[in-house]
Amino acid sequence: MGHDIALTCACGGFRAVIRDVSERTGNHAICYCVDCRAYARHLGQEARILDESGGTDLYQTQPWQVEIREGRDQLAVLQLARKGLYRWYARCCDTPICNTMGTPKLSFAGFTTANFDVSSDALGPVLLHYKADHATGPVPEDKGSMMRLMYRTMRNALRSRLNGKWRKTPFFDAATGRSIVKPHVLSDVERTAAYAE
Ligand SMILES: [Zn+2]
Ligand SMILES: [Zn+2]
Repeated sequence: MGHDIALTCACGGFRAVIRDVSERTGNHAICYCVDCRAYARHLGQEARILDESGGTDLYQTQPWQVEIREGRDQLAVLQLARKGLYRWYARCCDTPICNTMGTPKLSFAGFTTANFDVSSDALGPVLLHYKADHATGPVPEDKGSMMRLMYRTMRNALRSRLNGKWRKTPFFDAATGRSIVKPHVLSDVERTAAYAE
């Protein structure tokens, strides 16, 4: 059994709990990609979210393990481009919360650990330093394994698809497959500003 982790946006208007957090049930990763940086930059949250190498510390879990305690009506979602990941944030204070696919069927949610009530170290070893070539500073020599992370993600998602747990998600209406709020796709102007490194 893992432990529960509480997460909160910067202003405290949005609160949630992730159940059964452990090295077995989730993936701890750091993403250095320009998209994750653009997400933080668009929301004006680089200082809160990005590490000194431009990375975003993430804990990947499944939506059915997430329970929103307060401020579900504060959730908003953006896409950096059409067909891009759904990038959820709390609009009360523009805090990045998590990424999901555009469908509930693939049970996956990658949370920004900066909002957690525990430090990144408590989430176990970092399995993957993703897109290290996009980093703006030093990255550890051992980058981990993309194959291993993908395998774990797909295994969990498949299991949730088969046992029906994928339907339990705070982000989508499982019956229609639609997100609880309509995603905002960044305009060209917004996108240019978000990607200006
Ligand atoms: Zn807030
Ligand atoms: Zn990324």
